[in-house]
Amino acid sequence: MESLSDIQIENIRKDFPILSTKIYGKPIIYYDNGATTQKPMVVIDAISEFYREKNSSVHRGVHYLSDRSTEAYEQARETVRKFINARSTSEIIFTSGATGSINAVAFSLGEKFVGPGDEVLISGMEHHSNIIPWQMLCERKKAHLKVFPFTPDGEIDIEKYIASFSEKTRIVAFTHVSNTLGTINPVKEMVSHAHRHNVPVLVDGAQAIQHGHVDVTDMDCDFYAFSGHKVYGPNGIGVLYGKSKWLEQLPPYQGGGDMVDNVTFEKTTYNVLPYKFEAGTTNYVGAIALKTALDYVSKIGIDKIASYERSLLQYATEKLSSISGLKIYGNSKNKISIISFLVDQIHPYDTGMILDKMGIALRTGTHCNQPVMDFYGIEGTLRASMVFYNTKEEVDRLYEGLLKVKKMLG
Ligand code: PMP
Repeated sequence: MESLSDIQIENIRKDFPILSTKIYGKPIIYYDNGATTQKPMVVIDAISEFYREKNSSVHRGVHYLSDRSTEAYEQARETVRKFINARSTSEIIFTSGATGSINAVAFSLGEKFVGPGDEVLISGMEHHSNIIPWQMLCERKKAHLKVFPFTPDGEIDIEKYIASFSEKTRIVAFTHVSNTLGTINPVKEMVSHAHRHNVPVLVDGAQAIQHGHVDVTDMDCDFYAFSGHKVYGPNGIGVLYGKSKWLEQLPPYQGGGDMVDNVTFEKTTYNVLPYKFEAGTTNYVGAIALKTALDYVSKIGIDKIASYERSLLQYATEKLSSISGLKIYGNSKNKISIISFLVDQIHPYDTGMILDKMGIALRTGTHCNQPVMDFYGIEGTLRASMVFYNTKEEVDRLYEGLLKVKKMLG
């Protein structure tokens, strides 16, 4: 698989103005990409250009600006459709983010298809955003939340996954990629098993969309959720993909302007897909800037990005593993470029704070993954989540930094 050359990476880095920032006089190493990615200049420009020259609410009028704005918004929908290989733009709903998308499904599907005694299945490695909405649904409907486990290496225990289905299972939700362990789950196989039980599947793609090719048609999932800000786009915009056979049946989760066909005080009929699920003035600027971000990624090539990030992961794993007392959490054979680790008995916050003084931005804590920390019996980890603008030289600086931390506190 073709990767990215050093020169290409150097040029890519120039596209991201924040990467030339200095922290405490040292060039920043940004390793908190799992929380949010930095933005290339084209995305920043797309937002300001839109507000300067084109801004107008979508689907609202016949006037010139509204027409242009609507056209750009619907083009963004088509770009998302193509990026994840959905069959139709009517299956692409813009939301506020992955959290918004998951909550929408948990509410709408829950309203229609979940009742007392029913079961909702999730994995033990879920982000809080793919736990709490289902817990809330179960509380509301007096249903049960069932959790299938993962192995100490950080892989879904497939046998236990298969064994957790029953005739009461109404939905299964799991992450495509773990935000702490980095594991790429065998989603296609897992979806296919759920479908043997006629159970729909929601896949949380928040940590997958930026690291490799996502094909919802091939995966055959019923719902796929992701956030724009994790794929170099802006905050406050996200996507819910849903198969139209489900979206047609589900009630809207929010009411308001634009999602209606006809309104009287007695009865309201709803708009067609996808608008039925887009109440109110949507974040059309976010959607349009997300299009710019996806175009940017596509131009570089998501497969090349994935290949480069794999080599970076391998380099960083070998380098960090050579530090005595450093333990990596998440050792799946199939991983994206996330390394969660602890050094000796040193508290992750202490390590994180010293690294910060060296200009290295790592995430410390539970990463909204408290049950994963409980599984390993730890309070939290340090997390280096790397993307295509990170380099091997940065890994070397992290390695040197960790050796210094060990000398000071180990
Ligand atoms: N799922 C996973 C796996 C995540 O990593 C995140 C963000 N950390 C989310 C869901 C939620 O994403 P957002 O906060 O952008 O809605």
